Amino acid sequence: MTNPCIICVAITGSLPTKANNPAVPITVSEQVDSAHEAFEAGATIVHAHVRNDDETPSSDPEKFARLKEGLEQHCPGMIIQFSTGGRSGAGKTRGGMLSLRPDMASLSVGSNNFPTRVYENPPDLVDWLAWEMLTQGVKPEIEAFDLSHILKAKDMADRGLLAGTPYVQFVMGVKNAMPVDRDVFDYYIHTVRRLFGPDAPWCAAGIGQNQITLNEWAIAAGGHARTGLEDNVRLDRDRLAPSNAALVRRAAEICEKHQRPVATWQEARRILGLPQPGAKKQGEAA
Ligand SMILES: [Zn+2]
Repeated sequence: MTNPCIICVAITGSLPTKANNPAVPITVSEQVDSAHEAFEAGATIVHAHVRNDDETPSSDPEKFARLKEGLEQHCPGMIIQFSTGGRSGAGKTRGGMLSLRPDMASLSVGSNNFPTRVYENPPDLVDWLAWEMLTQGVKPEIEAFDLSHILKAKDMADRGLLAGTPYVQFVMGVKNAMPVDRDVFDYYIHTVRRLFGPDAPWCAAGIGQNQITLNEWAIAAGGHARTGLEDNVRLDRDRLAPSNAALVRRAAEICEKHQRPVATWQEARRILGLPQPGAKKQGEAA
């Protein structure tokens, strides 16, 4: 049986600027264009942050609303995932856009170190974000920066804070957090399967030059893959990536090498248990 691979494109992030790579989309219209090109190249999840005009990170729900509207119009079917990460806002402002009911949102469930600071995710805030997602019908993507975060997801599922099978993303290669380590990666997979079942979908992301390594590992091991300029602005050592789409095409080539078809948006929604567009979300008026 074939196992389609979902490619997620993290188009902007909160850190890279046009000075790092002019292809980083900053304005909402640049983000929609970049996501559209990536969608056509095979990406079916768009992970997005929003920025102010001076490129600094923003958590403005109005900007998220315009982005969602543009994505729905220009990339129909694509899964929209907003970031609730801690670089774009503080406290509950991190979840200020959840009432827009994107398909998904990232959810960090524990704290760890980042390159120059502590990445703080206090338990009460994590529970609040999870509860907001649950009540708004937004599927979380659990960001596992550490093994304990996968077990935390199990604890949250047991407490009724996560609906369905948790979808975990392994993040490796953030300086001062979990390095790119093959034994740990394999144990992450083992742990997801043990806690959430042998068929539980999972995904992996690598930062900087590790992006391609984690794409290779995840695709070969039956997981899903994240790429995009948020995590890595280079195509290789000598060349900047010309676009998000170029990084998606690189991931699609790795899928081909490992005989994994790139998931269509319909397949991606089925794998993740998301409604197909047109179907009403739970709680919405008929
Ligand atoms: Zn992000």
